[in-house]
Amino acid sequence: MSTATSDIGLIGLAVMGQNLVLNMADHGFKVSVYNRSPEKTQEFIAGEAGEKGVVGTYSLEELVGSLKAPRKVMLMVKAGAVVDSFIDMILPLLDKGDIIIDGGNSLYTDSTRRTQALADKGILFVGSGVSGGEEGARTGPSIMPGGNPAAWPAVKPIFQAISAKSGDEACCDWVGPEGAGHYVKMVHNGIEYGDMQLIAESYQLMREGLGMSADECHEIFAEWNKGVLDSYLIEITANILTFKDTDGAPLVDKILDAAGQKGTGKWTGISSLDLGIPLTLITESVYARCLSALKDERGVAAKIYPRQAAVAVSTEEKSRILQAIHDALYASKIISYTQGYMLMAQAAKEFSWDLNYGGIALMWRGGCIIRSTFLGEIKAAYDAEPNLQNLLQTSFFEKAIKSSEANWREAIIFGIRQQIPTPALSSALAFFDGYRSAVVSANLLQAQRDYFGAHTYERIDAPRGEYFHTDWIASG
Ligand code: NAP
Repeated sequence: MSTATSDIGLIGLAVMGQNLVLNMADHGFKVSVYNRSPEKTQEFIAGEAGEKGVVGTYSLEELVGSLKAPRKVMLMVKAGAVVDSFIDMILPLLDKGDIIIDGGNSLYTDSTRRTQALADKGILFVGSGVSGGEEGARTGPSIMPGGNPAAWPAVKPIFQAISAKSGDEACCDWVGPEGAGHYVKMVHNGIEYGDMQLIAESYQLMREGLGMSADECHEIFAEWNKGVLDSYLIEITANILTFKDTDGAPLVDKILDAAGQKGTGKWTGISSLDLGIPLTLITESVYARCLSALKDERGVAAKIYPRQAAVAVSTEEKSRILQAIHDALYASKIISYTQGYMLMAQAAKEFSWDLNYGGIALMWRGGCIIRSTFLGEIKAAYDAEPNLQNLLQTSFFEKAIKSSEANWREAIIFGIRQQIPTPALSSALAFFDGYRSAVVSANLLQAQRDYFGAHTYERIDAPRGEYFHTDWIASG
């Protein structure tokens, strides 16, 4: 009797892999698992996984031999060289038409390379973003698969069953060819950096600018979570701010202010520079983490340039400024998503991917870290106009920006007055002021470039594409 009875094999039993396997088993799929360190497999099978019928295997031959054709092997291992090394090891064990899925946070260019290299060998590769952390993986993540489209019919029933749902729609759909799935996951992570930074800046304006306690900030974020800002990140921020350490003090106050990062925000910023898209808010958010990491140096600078005490704020002014911070956060969030969508559109053009922008908003609507009510509005915008040039051109976002604009400026002015940095809020406004300007200062830049480097310029009174040079010194 054949022992090839499992629907899918999963390699990598760390936090994400284990939870995805349990989720698959809950949905009736038979899963075989393998991990480099066999004791993790033994431990996993000895617990809940074993009870759910998950099959532990202790060699890649055993893993592959336990799978039904076409075999589906999913990698949930450390991104980078480890993925390539597993692909190399399982490749000789697979037949044409079998499928390798990489569900880790891989760089999209690696997924493009792997899709092409494996297609040449008759193996179908899927590079899939998976978001939602440990809890999402267990109860329903957002899944963003791309790669070889021929793999999708075999993978779809499993992925759509285990993914989060928005209403009755799965937060998982085919994103596009090659590295498109990992590209969209990368932009998701970049947006996550931006959302987190916007919330952190709003928090600092409240804590230091308005002198509010962690509990008071908790109340405000909990309230904001009932309106247009309703989202997972606002919700967990409210929870964090009310969490007490063993001595009863807010735990948040005891956490060192030096942020870590794993690189997906940086990749998003790099891609934006490569593609020439002004992804200012996300990139500033990456830099804000870099600046935070200079903890010791900031300590020295704080002694040289001590910040003045915050200007006291009246009760009436406080409620006005809180509303201003709310509106600034909302407007800046709109800008961040607008920039993220501009980047995806440019990537689609550059790499000839046909991305489904409304579908992407739906995939992010549930399960993932950036899930929010707001994404429903983006989905609606692309449903109404699939070829939408820019989110800021929709009447919904036009209204939202126009009704927030005055308060947005007010909140940033308040930060400047209180000497509190607001790089994400401010860069969003600077982008908006540039984007909404029919005329910017680049005429002077072009003159400078022509002056020192004879780079030429176009004239407003001549057709586009006609270039002029002036001998600025001789004729000036
Ligand atoms: P991880 O810490 O990124 O990776 C651990 C897994 O990789 C273990 O199975 C480990 O095996 C294996 N591994 C590491 N180095 C190896 C090597 N040199 N050779 C063979 N195997 C090796 O695990 P994770 O946090 O569960 O994440 C898995 C993937 O999902 C990553 O790409 C991650 O970026 C992505 N992801 C993570 C999250 C999250 O919230 N954690 C969310 C979304 C996506 P051993 O047990 O033998 O060490």
